[in-house]
Amino acid sequence: MKKIVCLVCCVVLGITAKAQKVKNPNDNAKLVVGIVVDQMRYDYLNKFWDKYSEGGFKRLIKEGFNFKNNHFNYAPTYTGPGHTSVWTGTSPMNHGIIANNWYNKFEKRSVYCAQDDNVNSVGTITDAGKMSPHRVQATTLTDQNRLHTQFRGKTIGVSIKDRASILPAGHTANAAYWYSGGEDGKFITSTYYMEELPKWVQKFNNSGKVKSYLKEWNTLYDIDSYIESGIDNNDFENGYEGKDKATFPYNLKKLSKKNGHYSIIPETPYGDDLTLDFAIAAIEGEDLGADEDTDILTLSFSSTDKVGHNFGVNSKEVEDTYLRLDKNLADLLTYLDDKVGKGNYTIFLTADHGGGHVGGYLESVGIPTGIIDYDKFEKELLAFNEKQFGSSSIIENVSNGQFFLNYDYMAKENLDPATVETKIKHFLLQQEGIYKVFTRHELDITNYSNGIGYIIQNGFNQKRSGDIMIVLQPGNGYEEGSTHGSVFNYDTHTPLLFFGKGVPHGETYQRSEIIDIAPTMAAILGIEYPNATTGKPLSIMLDKASE
Ligand code: ZN
Ligand code: ZN
Ligand code: ZN
Repeated sequence: MKKIVCLVCCVVLGITAKAQKVKNPNDNAKLVVGIVVDQMRYDYLNKFWDKYSEGGFKRLIKEGFNFKNNHFNYAPTYTGPGHTSVWTGTSPMNHGIIANNWYNKFEKRSVYCAQDDNVNSVGTITDAGKMSPHRVQATTLTDQNRLHTQFRGKTIGVSIKDRASILPAGHTANAAYWYSGGEDGKFITSTYYMEELPKWVQKFNNSGKVKSYLKEWNTLYDIDSYIESGIDNNDFENGYEGKDKATFPYNLKKLSKKNGHYSIIPETPYGDDLTLDFAIAAIEGEDLGADEDTDILTLSFSSTDKVGHNFGVNSKEVEDTYLRLDKNLADLLTYLDDKVGKGNYTIFLTADHGGGHVGGYLESVGIPTGIIDYDKFEKELLAFNEKQFGSSSIIENVSNGQFFLNYDYMAKENLDPATVETKIKHFLLQQEGIYKVFTRHELDITNYSNGIGYIIQNGFNQKRSGDIMIVLQPGNGYEEGSTHGSVFNYDTHTPLLFFGKGVPHGETYQRSEIIDIAPTMAAILGIEYPNATTGKPLSIMLDKASE
């Protein structure tokens, strides 16, 4: 009895004491900038720490909150699904962006995640603007903010890549802008958003800014001080057309002729510089953060990914790209302090996936990668299907490690899909380099709570995905250049930093997942979660903020 009284009195006291401290839920940041760095591995924060400036990554970490064990919870870990998962708070299982390109089994053709044949380009005569978010099946944080503010709070998407601008900005964005290379060299959009580029975009495109980046790319600091990465001249880089060795310096003006003219800029860290230039022009041009309704700028730096693919995650080129990105972040924070005001904006920074070491490099140092002989593999698979099922065309399409079965054929031949899946699974598991295999039937009847099954299941969309999912051996990659897409730590472990209004200082090794970002930001803003969210608000940080 005594205990109960005490408990009641504590609770009552607790409420009274807290009542004075409760945050006004409508006292929100004037501007949210959600930064997604393409192909940023978590270890880049530590690896290049000594060379980072005080104002960029270090400031975000020293003043903000650092989730050190943040992971993608699904595969394939590609750009389209990555951005969509960050902003919808759920995985491909629910938002439907299962890859960058996938086989649409209903239309029997391959589709691109942001492609939309029903809209037109704005700002270019090419088809580069025929894009929209129509394939995203859920709302984004940006959509929820628009709904919450009665559409007074703006959303603007900015990136070099169309998908990295369009998917984050959601269905209700005021605008999303992306870069068109080739002979264009400018930022464009689509009729999904508007009929004509705003004056400030036209002014930016005519300013000569883009052209100014066709200059020499050399290392920011003495190359001999870049001891955190491998040697500049090595066997595991692709490099640019028209230059024998992938070594500094790179004369971009000269190289642009053989590398798609203005398309070379995104292939260098200058693509990130250009993205920041445009983002600041957008804040100015759209008056972002100027009134009490929260505006959201979705900002993705994509050149990091292109440099990673080209030169590999261990290259001097990647190191230089991150040191330059750090300077851009410092400039952005300084600009926001001045323009929107310290404490008036909130930032999060993460990645759309990580990236693996170059396969050829790992082999060279004795680490196995499970290289597959694809020609032999395909031949044997076709022969197996012919023998088992009477036709090699029982598999309609193979893409993104998924096999799509031919349902018309199975119905005609009276074949049970689950049995076909199992038989093909057993064949696949006998092949060199194949690590694990999951079937539609298994994913439908099993609830994986951890491990690789959990990751595959979160990436499996009942309507859009294939019928058999394969997982290649850890470390699998190309002979030259890095890639991503796997279920493994090098692709799933990415930075997650929060900074600014509503964010306490701290750090944790407690696991967070990419799908937790949107509900956490929704909690900070006091708005509803995106409609298909399966992530959770990161209470270890949020509870500290309300203490
Ligand atoms: Zn990416
Ligand atoms: Zn190099
Ligand atoms: Zn990539």
